[in-house]
Amino acid sequence: MNYKSDIEIAQETVMEPITEIAKTAGIEENYLEQYGRYKAKIDYNLLKAKNLEDGKLVLVTAITPTPAGEGKTTTTVGLADGMKRLGKNVMVALREPSLGPVFGIKGGAAGGGYAQVVPMEDINLHFTGDMHAIGAANNLLAAMLDNHIYQGNALNIDPRRITWKRCVDMNDRQLRFVTDGLGGRVNGVPREDGYDITVASEVMAVLCLANDITDLKKRLASIIVGYTYDEKPVTAGDLHAEGAMTALLKDALKPNLVQTLEHTPAIVHGGPFANIAHGCNSVIATKMAMKLGDYAVTEAGFGADLGAEKFLDIKCRMAGLVPSAVVVVATVRALKNHGGVAKEQLNEENLEALEKGIPNLLQHVENIKNVYKLPCVVAINAFPTDTKAELDLVERKCNELGVNVALSEVWAKGGQGGIALAKEVIRLCEEPNEFSQSYELDLSIEEKLNAIVKKIYHGDGVVLTANAKKQADKLTELGFDKLPICVAKTQYSFSDDMTLKGAPKGFKVTVRELKVSAGAGFIVALTGNIMTMPGLPKIPAAERIDVDESGKISGLF
Ligand code: ADP
Ligand code: MG
Repeated sequence: MNYKSDIEIAQETVMEPITEIAKTAGIEENYLEQYGRYKAKIDYNLLKAKNLEDGKLVLVTAITPTPAGEGKTTTTVGLADGMKRLGKNVMVALREPSLGPVFGIKGGAAGGGYAQVVPMEDINLHFTGDMHAIGAANNLLAAMLDNHIYQGNALNIDPRRITWKRCVDMNDRQLRFVTDGLGGRVNGVPREDGYDITVASEVMAVLCLANDITDLKKRLASIIVGYTYDEKPVTAGDLHAEGAMTALLKDALKPNLVQTLEHTPAIVHGGPFANIAHGCNSVIATKMAMKLGDYAVTEAGFGADLGAEKFLDIKCRMAGLVPSAVVVVATVRALKNHGGVAKEQLNEENLEALEKGIPNLLQHVENIKNVYKLPCVVAINAFPTDTKAELDLVERKCNELGVNVALSEVWAKGGQGGIALAKEVIRLCEEPNEFSQSYELDLSIEEKLNAIVKKIYHGDGVVLTANAKKQADKLTELGFDKLPICVAKTQYSFSDDMTLKGAPKGFKVTVRELKVSAGAGFIVALTGNIMTMPGLPKIPAAERIDVDESGKISGLF
């Protein structure tokens, strides 16, 4: 059978004017800044002005994914549309897509099938310019830093100890390591430098974790850009950069309002990746969705070992949020992949491999229920290639083990296909919970890492390289050891080795570098060979993207 592509479905949709969506959401006109007919920014002052009660927060996460994504965004959107069909007042909160995956392997990130947010081309490309603003703020700081050194270096910054990188929103491995400042005395100070993808920039994390504009500025000022010759940290505040950076970001801090295909209000704001950053949309967006909706449905990136871990251990802790229910998205395809089936054969029925892959799902569910102590349901995201026998097997296995499960057919049917899941989520939201985190902040850096590796990844513990050990000591000496940890790790395994599928045991996780994101307020631990600047695959999705003479885009998935 031939299915319509995501972009074809999106383009066939008759959207409602954003003013109508704002009305549905209860946003008064004076808080709405329109970006054309179908997008708007919401003034963050609405959060302070509206003395509304918070709605329930629902997190959508997933099993360990395959390269194509498992349908978390699709499920988030479809679940919300399902809840709306049941008469609930619901808001969606999602991340903004990055151009890296859009042109790389995965394609767009606005959902799929009949569960999408629109206008999908805009959301996936330039949207309201937030990503550009974040890149500009990041690169302004880089320029001011190098200029400071060039102009006499009054702060005594050691050019070999600069930790701040430039950034660009593109998968571009060519820029991972660069030498710049070449060309003689008037052209800067030569040094080794490098680029990160914008979504991995600390500015992105700061924007996503800031409570308001004052907090944003304070966090920006705290960003550490490098160290002096006598090893003292140098901050963006020392360079007097925070004011101008905040000026660049003042509109980017405002959440963006769009709609689902079924006209449910959706906030799409902030987009850190979950493997190399903290993986969830902005705190302001989540809080706004909770104020405006009785239910706020949000997504954290990649598998629950990454996105949900950081959502729960970093974001919820910092913002004082307590989720009411967690949805773990699983697909038959990914479970077969964990059971040993190669990517090319995932379309064929294979009950044996499916059963072998189920421990991956169970381990994620166990973490949510036993470590974080949150009510949890598995959503089986049905693909057209799944057989009835396969879907039945997953359901039966989950039931045998006492795991709640609902079949989700939102990709094929929109909100109607999400009603079973919606009913279960609504029920779970009424259950009391004793939300806990996987580690306490007063543990040492190494102890916190050990807690994550043992409790969430189910490994034997963490190994710090000699370099990382030295960095841990230094960060402790500087007083940063009580911050939460943001682990950068492959998304394809519970371990730091992407080839270990399923629920591996008996492994250790190696941390090769530790650095503080003092503005964001966490310590970044780089494991295995994870890179903060991805590359493009052999055949990038970009090769299939085109525009016709009327300006209509195709190939964005
Ligand atoms: P994630 O958020 O987990 O990365 P997405 O929701 O973005 O995943 O989905 C990734 C891709 O998979 C999208 O192109 C989407 O259309 C497709 N997809 C998701 N669910 C299904 C499904 N049930 N059947 C077929 N394709 C799907
Ligand atoms: Mg997604």
